[in-house]
Amino acid sequence: MSLDNRPVYTGGCQCGAVRFRVEGALGDASVCHCRMCQKASGNFYLPLVSVRGAKLDWTRGEPKRFRSSSAALRGFCAECGTPLTFEAPDGVALAIAAFDDPAGIVPTIQWGTEAKLAYVDHIHELPGEDTMADISSAPYLAELVSYQHPDHDTEQWPPEERS
Ligand SMILES: [Zn+2]
Ligand SMILES: [Zn+2]
Repeated sequence: MSLDNRPVYTGGCQCGAVRFRVEGALGDASVCHCRMCQKASGNFYLPLVSVRGAKLDWTRGEPKRFRSSSAALRGFCAECGTPLTFEAPDGVALAIAAFDDPAGIVPTIQWGTEAKLAYVDHIHELPGEDTMADISSAPYLAELVSYQHPDHDTEQWPPEERS
């Protein structure tokens, strides 16, 4: 919470070159299945939350932007490629999983369902395993060191020992 009790959210890209801070209430949270969002995210659908009613600050770096249509820009980290924004004339939306704590930002609607990939509706029916479930087939996981930015703001990034 900020001094005047407005909620504060932070997040950024995987490499840490771009970080954002949102102060104020988030707007609608959604997933968009449209083909443009699929291509922009390299994924089955793009989860976004509107920040048009809140104050958005870029606290480290700023996204590079691609004009994906006559109406919208798509922001992403120029260093690591993480998709970060959808910027339309009626406001900016941020990629939900780019937030440090995405679990609380619950989508309430699906858009672009004309392009929904049919198997998306069945992913929860697939067999599931946790990351370490088959360590013998991927032994490097036991020694893995993440170079991604942690899920909180940092004074300096990357840490000195790696920079
Ligand atoms: Zn990055
Ligand atoms: Zn879309």
